[in-house]
Amino acid sequence: MKEVKSKDSKLNLVLLGAPGAGKGTQARLLCDAINIQHISTGDIFRKHIAGNTELGIQVKEYLDNGLLVPDSVTIEIVKLRLSECKQGFVLDGFPRTVLQAQALDELVNIDSVINISVSIDKLASRLALRRVCHCGKTFTAPNLDVKSIQCVCGGKAVQREDDKQAIVKRISVYQSDTAPLIEFYQKQGKLFTVDGMQSIELVHQSLYSKLFG
Ligand SMILES: [Zn+2]
Repeated sequence: MKEVKSKDSKLNLVLLGAPGAGKGTQARLLCDAINIQHISTGDIFRKHIAGNTELGIQVKEYLDNGLLVPDSVTIEIVKLRLSECKQGFVLDGFPRTVLQAQALDELVNIDSVINISVSIDKLASRLALRRVCHCGKTFTAPNLDVKSIQCVCGGKAVQREDDKQAIVKRISVYQSDTAPLIEFYQKQGKLFTVDGMQSIELVHQSLYSKLFG
C-alpha cells in the first residue's frame, strides 16, 4: 500500500465489497471524514436516467432489456464524473471487472483499494436471525427459535426466507466475479482488506486506520 502522508492529501480510492458488506455506508462515512467525493455508479446511472440524458437513455435501454450496461458506457460515465473530482474520490460499484480496472488505470492513478470482506456463512447466520415486519422495520431475534417479533406498528416481524437465499446467491456470484479483480489490485500492491462483519463503526475505524495508520 502506498504511504499516505496526511488526511488532507488528495486520495483516489476504490471500495470493493459484496452486497450486504456496507460499501455505500462506508463510502459516505469516509467522505465525511476526509472530504473526498463519493462516486457511486449506481447513483450516477439513476441520475442520468432521471435526467433523461443521452447516456441515461442508453443505460435505461440495456436495463429494460435485462442486459448489463456495457463496459464502454460505464467507463464513459465514470470518466465524466472523475473530471469533477479533483480533490480525490472513493469509487463504489466500479470497477467490477479487470477490463474496467485497466480502463480506470488509464484515466487516473488509484492510491488504494479497500476490500470489505464478508463471510457468506456468517452473513447467512446473521440473516437467519433477522425478522422483518411488513412496515419495513427489522429486528434481530435472540435465537433461531424465535420465529416472530411483535412490532411497534402492531404487525409481526418474521423471517423472509426467499430474501435470505437471494442475498447469499448474490454474494457468491459477486465473490467469484470479483476474485480476479482482487488479484489484479493485490499484484499492484494497492489492496487491503477489512473485516466487514464488524459493526459499521468498527469497519469505519479499521478502514481509517489502515489508510492513515
Ligand atoms: Zn411493523
